[in-house]
Amino acid sequence: MRRMPEALTDEAFDLLILGGGITGAGVALDAVLRGLRVALIDKGDFASGTSSVSSKLAHGGLRYLEHGDFHLVYEALHERARLLSNAPHLVHPLRFVVPFYEGARVNQWKFRIGLLLYDVLAGARNIRRSRAASLPYLRRQFSQLRPEGLRGGAEYFDAQMDDARLCLEVLRTASLHGAIVANYVEAIAFDFSGGPIRVVRAVDHCSGRELLIVAKQVVNATGPWGDTVRRLSGDDGEALLRPTKGVHLILPNLGLTAAFLLLHPADGRVFFVLPFYKRVLLGTTDTVWDDSPDKVSVTPEDVAYLLDGFNHYFTSPLSRADVLNSFAGLRPLIRSRPGQPSELSREFQLHTSPSGLLTAAGGKYTTYRKMAEIITDTVVRRLGLSRRCRTRSFRLDGTSDQPWQSFRASTIRTLTSAYPFNAGTATHLVERYGRRALEVADYVKRNPALSQQVVEGEPDILAEFAYQRDHEMAEKRDDFLLRRTRLGLLHPLLLRDAPSFLGKYAGH
Ligand SMILES: Cc1cc2nc3c(=O)[nH]c(=O)nc-3n(C[C@H](O)[C@H](O)[C@H](O)COP(=O)(O)OP(=O)(O)OC[C@H]3O[C@@H](n4cnc5c(N)ncnc54)[C@H](O)[C@@H]3O)c2cc1C
Repeated sequence: MRRMPEALTDEAFDLLILGGGITGAGVALDAVLRGLRVALIDKGDFASGTSSVSSKLAHGGLRYLEHGDFHLVYEALHERARLLSNAPHLVHPLRFVVPFYEGARVNQWKFRIGLLLYDVLAGARNIRRSRAASLPYLRRQFSQLRPEGLRGGAEYFDAQMDDARLCLEVLRTASLHGAIVANYVEAIAFDFSGGPIRVVRAVDHCSGRELLIVAKQVVNATGPWGDTVRRLSGDDGEALLRPTKGVHLILPNLGLTAAFLLLHPADGRVFFVLPFYKRVLLGTTDTVWDDSPDKVSVTPEDVAYLLDGFNHYFTSPLSRADVLNSFAGLRPLIRSRPGQPSELSREFQLHTSPSGLLTAAGGKYTTYRKMAEIITDTVVRRLGLSRRCRTRSFRLDGTSDQPWQSFRASTIRTLTSAYPFNAGTATHLVERYGRRALEVADYVKRNPALSQQVVEGEPDILAEFAYQRDHEMAEKRDDFLLRRTRLGLLHPLLLRDAPSFLGKYAGH
């Protein structure tokens, strides 16, 4: 995947997608596999919006059962199964524990029925059935849990992914099949007056050049920016979205051996304690956001809310000083139901502007493939074509034809025997790049200095930067540190004092 913005003006495309988050990436892959000529642009880096700051769960969303959103949960659980098989190096099962406390907003019977329903909705492709967790078991396994009021609990399985890397992998797969994709290209004006031909004026932020991109159909997949871009196109209808802000904190390794689903003591909302690169991810908040998506940030109140939630359940209290880093993102939720932010709909809508611009609104990461199928069905129809979706069991680029576990084991063996890697680095490379791990490793064959770790104690090696520059369109420092690797999240000082070696890879 190489950055060639000039290719955006070389031809008239069937489809131009605005936004390289997971929604746009999913549409690019689906459409290119149906034989359309596809272009995609993002005003920043790919996944630099919501798609790198999610809770990183490929999940049905146990809590949506409370609102009776059975269809949403059913669909998401089936998409979860597809993700686990189409990108097993990036999406993996995760064990969750739900402790039952006396007097909690949701009592244990409601939880038990919910989990049973969750298993039923997942059907034959469930990861593993949920089960009761006895009080002695919980006390033995999770001694950090507050013992007062603990009555027992349950265990269930969902899946976890690296959101930014999965988005890149979908884009990379689309690009390998012929889509022209470019980051740092922003749509700034539209001319839809020429009948079936649409012209989008865009600016390439790397060169400063203006580009005129011509396409028969334009899809606005700009997530929380959706209404802004729609208005830019001349559609001044009511806002489709009511974004809400979600904040996560990164905490040190606390020795927890499972993920936790908990209810916040202040408002009864669900929040998660999740493993994340040998650290802990704590999130999330859910507050209405009316300002520009470009300004979203973490406030001291967000941090206090999350720490209060954590400290309510765990015996060793944490303070702000324990927080390694934090990040915020906006859920592009549909403005459909009145009430609290959490009740805003996670469902997805495709809006058609009078000009013909299609805007994707709502949805969630887990169901990106299904949303992309619906959007591309509409695009294909509008183009007067009839082509069937091919993404249901389409394996993403890094996925081997071999079953994942045996591929993983044999590649780790190769990486530790034919290259100078220890088991930790080899495992890290396979789990990040899948079958492309050997291509990353080959950089070390050519230049052994690239086997060096970027940061002591982390498995990331310098060769990854070279690979990301050459094959993953990493342009700027944050592209390497926040999305291609997640080192900047774990070591925020790297973002301030960009290490000198990064200068060789990042142009800006
Ligand atoms: C805190 C939080 C936690 C979440 N957790 C989960 C979870 O665990 N599981 C789950 O399934 N879902 C989760 N979600 C939801 C999920 O992350 C989002 O639904 C999804 O990432 C949205 O992707 P998107 O591509 O629509 O938007 P984005 O990822 O925001 O992408 C939009 C892109 O459009 C680009 N753009 C904007 N304007 C322009 C322009 N003029 N020209 C070109 N490009 C432009 C932006 O730069 C951006 O990259 C979570 C959301 C949040 C906020």
